[in-house]
Amino acid sequence: MSLFRGGIPAILLGVSLVLAAPLAALAAPAGPAAATVRAEKPRKAPTTDELTKDQDSYLALVSRDHPLDPANYKPKDLRTISGTGLELRQDAATALESLLKAARKDSQSLNVLSAYRSYDRQLALFNGYKARYGTDYATRISAPAGTSEHQIGLAADIGMSSGRCDLKACFGDTSGGKWLAANAADFGFIIRYPADGEKVTGYKYEPWHLRFIGVDQAKAMEKSKSVTFEQFHAALLKASKVKTPTAAEIKKQREALLILRFLPPYRDWSIGYDFAR
Ligand SMILES: [Zn+2]
Repeated sequence: MSLFRGGIPAILLGVSLVLAAPLAALAAPAGPAAATVRAEKPRKAPTTDELTKDQDSYLALVSRDHPLDPANYKPKDLRTISGTGLELRQDAATALESLLKAARKDSQSLNVLSAYRSYDRQLALFNGYKARYGTDYATRISAPAGTSEHQIGLAADIGMSSGRCDLKACFGDTSGGKWLAANAADFGFIIRYPADGEKVTGYKYEPWHLRFIGVDQAKAMEKSKSVTFEQFHAALLKASKVKTPTAAEIKKQREALLILRFLPPYRDWSIGYDFAR
């Protein structure tokens, strides 16, 4: 009898589980998806001005096609990167210090070869390359003054402490280069001139050149299909031009939807009324 008494509830439990399962499955698609949307904090989308006019923006696109204006622009919040004689803008310097510390923890000894460069310094550098290699090659490896990311204080060239492959494509194959490619985005940096990006960026592969764009955007770019910052920037610009509805417009849309939802019952009620008469 004890088997009987124990058996019935077990069977009932089994049946109720079988019945409950399809119900849970029906409810499932709306549940977790809706919860995810609510839980995710929306990333503040950059405005069109931030992307095109604001040269202080971390998302400013600076290149030969997008020169600085004025050409001798200088950021206001430069500071020395600790342990170096080089400067970056405040947030970029802090981010780079964290990156170097994290690299050391992973047994990668990296150092900063170059960071902020003034207009005059860039002019001297570019003219030097021009004299050495000729204009054509100089423009593939260096930016004319007023078009360099180093001038906005958001770019840094990184090397191994051993000096192996410094400022050479083979840096990408070193342990330090691989570490950078894998971890830079966690600190808000991107590898600005990727191996397959020369047609878009106008620059040869520079696995050592980091550009700070902020952690959220660097991670978003990593997740996106954009290979180059130019492509990512274009996508952000396109999105910034899509008009986001105001709170009043959203309320109006919701009200319109509510009216639609109530239409069929009204019709049913009138049929019911006729029938009763
Ligand atoms: Zn560089």
